[in-house]
Amino acid sequence: MENQRETKQPAIRISHRAILSGLLVGTVAGVAAHAAWPQHPWLNVVVDGLTEPTGRLFLRLIFLIVLPLVFSALTLGVSGFGDLASVGRVGLKTLTVTLVISSLSVAIGIVLVNVFQPGAALSEEARAALLASAQRVDPALGGARAPVGLEVLTHLVPDNPVRAAAQGDMLAVMVFALVFGLGLARSDRKAISVLTAWLEGVYEVSMQVVGLAMRLAPVGVGCLMFTLTARFGYEVLQPLAAYVGVVILGLALHLLVTYSLLLRVFAQRSVCPFFAAVQPVVLTAFSTSSSNATLPTTLAVARERLGIPREIAGFVLTLGSTANQNGTALFEGVTVLFLAQFFGVELTLGQQLLVVGMSVLAGIGTAGVPGGSLPLIVPVLVAVGVPAEGIGIILGVDRFLDMCRTVLNVVGDLVVAVVVAAWEKPPAALEDQSKEYFGQKAEQGR
Ligand code: ASP
Repeated sequence: MENQRETKQPAIRISHRAILSGLLVGTVAGVAAHAAWPQHPWLNVVVDGLTEPTGRLFLRLIFLIVLPLVFSALTLGVSGFGDLASVGRVGLKTLTVTLVISSLSVAIGIVLVNVFQPGAALSEEARAALLASAQRVDPALGGARAPVGLEVLTHLVPDNPVRAAAQGDMLAVMVFALVFGLGLARSDRKAISVLTAWLEGVYEVSMQVVGLAMRLAPVGVGCLMFTLTARFGYEVLQPLAAYVGVVILGLALHLLVTYSLLLRVFAQRSVCPFFAAVQPVVLTAFSTSSSNATLPTTLAVARERLGIPREIAGFVLTLGSTANQNGTALFEGVTVLFLAQFFGVELTLGQQLLVVGMSVLAGIGTAGVPGGSLPLIVPVLVAVGVPAEGIGIILGVDRFLDMCRTVLNVVGDLVVAVVVAAWEKPPAALEDQSKEYFGQKAEQGR
């Protein structure tokens, strides 16, 4: 009996107050430790031997279950639509909203970087200091070449899904899951009933495992923040303050203006309850810098707080955790133009449009892991004639910007899911379900 009651509980209990406390304590303690004992051997021991491994352990506990979760959620999502036509319709809507939202995000970034010119405004000394202190770029980052034409498709479809999974190629795994789900949808219900039940079991177990890992979230997040701030302090942001400021301003505008408009206009959703409901997703994304690690929380929030139907959540959010990264697209556009200004490379309007297009595609191709976008900036830099080593200049501030853009990436996934769900279902039904959630909260609060 006890067991039965337990499994009816939501898999992930999201205590965002506890996560927020961990985040604040870790940040304040790290900044203070860095100010008091910068680079002290004792502090290095604490960071290397305690907080970094603890934070990493927390992330690994989530990552270890992402693969079965992605596979089961996407397969069930696709097969839940029942027929090819519905999958195609929802897929097309998802792709359209993703492309529109990503293009808007890059456009915001490009306009801001042209207005504020953060790369051109640097003094000669700051420029020389940045070049001197630029971190060496990992040679693996420089080797990337953007696929051309239909090559993009061949890269997407794995010839061996097991090898793709072993190599951590999440996009290829998703394509496999999509195709598998389509096969499932077309099969005779009786013949696949055991397999479907099995996949549902895998999904349920994955969510429960993440639920367990999330109990560690306050400590894990605190350790991640302590590691970051104790190592670098906030001084690392100073020389690149204008660039960091433009990225943050762009992200904030996109989050508050574009997302709010899309929610109101295309889904007739009230904006404030939406932002209140997605707080756990924001905190998890900010502290883990990973859309994939945030996926379980995103799925839970979508179903339990936003009333998004299961197959739409499974399909749109799972795909979106890798393929809809509009915070990343904005960041890439701003970074390429910033580095062009830094090196005095004049970009024509045509080249700037090329940056927009390539950044939107890079957002789709970026892995939902910390620093996943870095390898994809290099081909964009090369395409417009900006020295690729320039990327070393921004590496010092990348982790912080990664935390911020990941928030946009996952909230963007939820916005796309809400819009697609509204187009699939009368909006009133969605609003009713989320009212139910807020109603319950109000009851509990009394
Ligand atoms: N960390 C980002 C994400 O997981 C990807 C990136 O921009 O590097 O969404």
